[in-house]
This record gives sequence, structure tokens and C-alpha cells, in this order.
Amino acid sequence: MKLFHNGHFWQDGNFDNELKAILTRDGKILKLIFDDEQSSPDVQRIDLGGDYVFPGFIDTHTHSFEGGLYSLMIDLGDAKSLSDVFAKIEDGCKDKGKFVFAWNFDETRIAEQRFPTRAELDQVVKHKNLVLRRIDGHSCIINTFACNSILGGHNKVHCEDEVFRGFENDRAVHWFHHNLDDELILRAYHAASKIALKGGFTTIHTMVGDANMSVGHYSLLQSKLAEFPVDYELYPQSFNIDAAMDLGAKRVGGCILADGSIGSMTAALYEPYSGKPIRGNLYQSDQFWKEFIGKAHSNDLQVAVHCIGDRAISQINSVYLDLAHSDYKDLRHQLIHCEITDDTLVDQIKASAAVPVMQPMFDLLWGGSGGFYSRLLGPERVSTMNRFGTMLGKGIRVTGSSDWYITELDIRKSLFAAMNHHNPKELLSLKQAVDIYTLNAAWLSKDENRRGALKVGMDADFSVLNYIPRAEAPAEHQKIRKVIKRAEIVYEDM
Ligand SMILES: [Zn+2]
Ligand SMILES: [Zn+2]
Repeated sequence: MKLFHNGHFWQDGNFDNELKAILTRDGKILKLIFDDEQSSPDVQRIDLGGDYVFPGFIDTHTHSFEGGLYSLMIDLGDAKSLSDVFAKIEDGCKDKGKFVFAWNFDETRIAEQRFPTRAELDQVVKHKNLVLRRIDGHSCIINTFACNSILGGHNKVHCEDEVFRGFENDRAVHWFHHNLDDELILRAYHAASKIALKGGFTTIHTMVGDANMSVGHYSLLQSKLAEFPVDYELYPQSFNIDAAMDLGAKRVGGCILADGSIGSMTAALYEPYSGKPIRGNLYQSDQFWKEFIGKAHSNDLQVAVHCIGDRAISQINSVYLDLAHSDYKDLRHQLIHCEITDDTLVDQIKASAAVPVMQPMFDLLWGGSGGFYSRLLGPERVSTMNRFGTMLGKGIRVTGSSDWYITELDIRKSLFAAMNHHNPKELLSLKQAVDIYTLNAAWLSKDENRRGALKVGMDADFSVLNYIPRAEAPAEHQKIRKVIKRAEIVYEDM
């Protein structure tokens, strides 16, 4: 047994000063202790140093494989010139195996304002497969060695094009992902789990698969889950319902796309983009979603779909709503991102009982009247975006996430973003911000009896901070002090 004492413990939206300690046995909470009792010698006492103890935080939407993999690879984020790029790749590829990823490349931030050429990359990496990905992941360039490797296989790419975009980009990147060996795949997940702990999380939902028909390395990861210090909740991110069922998955989907992104003006809108005669794209027909979601639903699978624009959200939510009326099941279908929702759409989401799986960091980075979203959508529509406060106010169970590697996997930043929404109507209290990463997040995967609160019988998962999150940005000394998973200290920053 272990006794966690000398902490401020989070209970129902507050720190309960009467609660003195938590006693655990076999990784579960055995008893909440309200008096200064003398504990017996067989109890190990763990002093929490007066810090603030939350239920273990849960991030409900990440791409941990890419996040972990890229953390092991070459980050070009601070390159200022092409010679910087080449030096980083040359240095970084020394300890890599056959596959080298250089990522975070942004041609607008380097002196030459262009991608390197294939010939230039060949000078740097001759005998390994190299892919250099743009910061947004929507374009890339590969070296000749990789071109020849890909041409030797079934997935032909048109190597006469230097920079790949769209379909060619997807195909090249998938080829790299598919050809990695198991050892590197698992190393990527180990790296990701370390980043998750450092970011204050005990559980992360992670998307596995190519968002098309492949579930990728799902079964490999599934067979190794016990090795990781965090719990991974797996999503077969694919349209392949049969494969998901064969794997014994509880759900299907992830960032399978109903529409694109606001940045590329492919998020599907009812009204055109600001000053442009386009409204984005629905990637599939109504009938397609009806069949796909209907089949998953009838097989008791939870469904998760990427939908950003109001037209896409409405397309997916309408299917959820029909099923809620005709064949209600408590499956907790997901609307991932769910960014643009006017009042009518919010009410329809309430009626369908779908769960918006949302990213507070998106508003922090791109929201507000002068922000990126406002330039593309106009200031008026921005007031109908990322409606955390409104949705929670109506009893919709929003959950919080980072979409890592798109934004950082760090609970301090996520809570700060949620408590600092640009739109005062949508900003969250500390209780609400914590709820979307604990109670609601646990509920999303039907783990509400196991995780998400400091209660008897639940897993002893604690995220310990040395400060109370507030609306100010966390300072350097305000940190995640400890992460405790099933009563084991799995991360510590003293
Ligand atoms: Zn995603
Ligand atoms: Zn997405």
C-alpha cells in the first residue's frame, strides 16, 4: 500500500483542504483520508511536497506515432537558410537507419524562400531514404535513393516532379511510414509516451492507420501496450470496419476526413471563404457516410470523424442524429475538431448526443479578431468557432485534446488556452478546463468508472502541478512536478 500525502487534492472542481491523503493498493485508490491518521509500517509514504494533485490528465486526440517518430528525427523548424537545412540533415542522418525524416521545413522562413532541389538533397544523403516534409505536412520532397526505392515497389510516384503535393505527397509519406521496421515504430511510441508524461498526461488517445483502408501497425502496438508508462487508447484510423472488428477494436475512425482544413481552404463551409468564391469540399457524399457510420453503429463501434467546417460537421452530425432517433445506443460518436458551429448546429449536436473532441490550442494560435481564422473566414464567423463555453453550458460533453503533433502535447498550455479563449463567451473556468481533460475525457472511452477523478476504486493516476492553473500563461518555474500512473511515479521534475 502507498500513502500519497502533503498535497492539495482536486475534488469536484476544487482543492479539498480537508482531504489529507490518498491511500492506494495495487494501483487503485483504496481510501480518501480526511484525518491525520498514523499509518502502519507496511504503508509506503509518498510526500507530494504541498503540490496540486489532479486526476491523471487524458488527451483524447493525438497522432502519437508521427509525434514520437519525428521527435527522433530531424527538426528543421529553426533553419534560416538552405545551408542550415543541409547541415542539420547531414548531422542528423548519421545515427539514423535506412529511413530519414526531416520535418518542420518552412520555405517562407528561410533566406532562399524555396525548397531544396532533389540534386541538392542527393549531395547530402546518397544511400538512405530521405523525405523532407513541409511544416503543414501537405507537401514534401524526397531524394533520388528514395525515388528508386519507391519505384522498385508497387507504389509508383512521378519522380520527375520535385516537390510532391496532394496525392503524390500522401503516397510518398505513406510509403515511408509503411516501410519502417517494427523496432523503429515501437521506438516512436516509446518516445511519444515520454513526451506525454513530460506534458502531464497519464492516458492519450492515439490514431493508428492511414485514414484510408489500412490500419497500419495497430496489432503490433496492441500487442505491446503493457510496455508503455502511459495508457494508449487506440483508434483504427481507417474506413475499414471489418479490419477494426477483426482487431477487437471498440471503435473506428479518427482523422478520417469529412472535409479538409481552414488553412488550405478545404474545410467545408455553408458560406464562402472571405473574399473568395469557394466554400471548401465535402470529401464524401451523404450516402457514403450514412452507410459507413450505419455499418459501424450496427456493429456497436464508436465512430470518430474529422470535421472542421459547419457544412462537414452538419453532414456527419445528421447521420449521428438519425441513428440517435432510429437506433439509439450509447456509443459516444465523435466529431473531431468541430470548429465552426452556429447556435442551430450546437443544438443539433446536443440532440444527437455526439461528442465534440476539440483543441483549445487552435483558438489560442489562430483565433481572435486579428488572427489567421479571421483573415480567412471574416471576424463575424470567428465568433461561432470553437464554442467550448456554449457547448458545455448546454450540457454537451466536450473533450480536450492537442491533435499532437499539430500542437504541443502539454497540459499546462492546453489549460491556459482553454481559460483564455479569444471569445469571452467561450472561455472556460478552471473546473471546466480540467473536466474536458479528466471527467469528460474518461467518459469518451467509457472509462468513467476507472479514470478521470480522485475517487475510491479508480486507478491511482495523478498529474501533480506545482501551481494552480490560471488565466495567465504558466511561467518557467510553474511545472508538471510528477506524473503517477497506477500509484507508480513515472515522471518527476524536481
Ligand atoms: Zn487529428
Ligand atoms: Zn483531423
